[in-house]
Order: sequence, then C-alpha cells, then structure tokens
Amino acid sequence: MAKKQILIIPDPLLRKVSEPVSSVNTEIKNLMDDMLETMYAAPGIGLAAVQIGVLKRIIVIDLSKDGEKKNPLFIVNPEITFKSNELISYEEGCLSIPNQFAEVKRPSSCKVNFLDYNGKKKKINANGLLATCIQHEVDHLDGILFIDHLSKLKKDLIIKKTKKQKKEIDRVIV
Ligand code: ZN
Repeated sequence: MAKKQILIIPDPLLRKVSEPVSSVNTEIKNLMDDMLETMYAAPGIGLAAVQIGVLKRIIVIDLSKDGEKKNPLFIVNPEITFKSNELISYEEGCLSIPNQFAEVKRPSSCKVNFLDYNGKKKKINANGLLATCIQHEVDHLDGILFIDHLSKLKKDLIIKKTKKQKKEIDRVIV
C-alpha cells in the first residue's frame, strides 16, 4: 500500500467523469488499498479514485469512529437505484476542498448496487451518514463537488477561501 497525493480544487481532473471498472483485478485491488491508506492518513471517511488522480468509478468509505475496529467499505461501479424523498442535512467537507464545510441537504436514504473488493455483486440500503457519504462520493465520479449543491454566493466564497489557503501553504513551503 502507498499513500497518494490528494488533488485539491481547482484541479481539472476533479471535474471529469470517471470510467466504469471492467474487472476487479489485482491492479484495481492495489488501487483500492492505496485509496484506503490515503483516506485513513488524511484523515477522512470517504474517498473517490479521482481524488488521487485515477478516473475510475471506485469509492472507499469507513465510518468507524476513533478507537473502533476499522470497517472499510469498497464500492466499485456504484449505481444508485433509489433515493428517498425525505431529505437530511449534514455539514459536509471534502478532502479536495480542505478546511471548508457547509450544510448540504440530500436524500436521507438510498439503495446502491455495486461490486465489492472481490468483484462480487452487492446491494446496500444506506441511511443517514452512510447515505450522505455514498451520494457525496458518487457525485465525485461524475465530476460533481459538494459545493455545487450550494448557492453561487456560498460556492464562490469557499473557492476563494481555498485558493487563498493554498497560496498561504505555498508561502510556508517556500
Ligand atoms: Zn469529497
């Protein structure tokens, strides 16, 4: 496993649509291992392959809390087959938009078909935080970011703050 660099906005790759995985082979499993390591190190609770620069429809999620046993969920080629009318809001953040958070409303539950780490077909019925996390990550596979769900005013402010923050980080490195 190897930790990879996470792409930050406005990296153009983050706006691309990812391609489906044709077979869950060793290369894909290695990629999923790298994604998990990168996500744990960040730390984050979800990561899409595009965030480490690979345009494949793969997501890793782990909602286990500090001190709990790790519980990674590998989701390949997700297809959301149902979204509830009922909405729920969470304060969302994103590893590709560091230190910025905003409340986003999404369907409170969803059903997803996908392939697991071993390429087996699986279905889950997700609620609450897991449903939000899956929808946030599936958005990544279509080039959509959580800030796209906000008003233009809030979105522009977050983009501006992220750019400023990036400059400050560069200054420190220099
Ligand atoms: Zn994200």
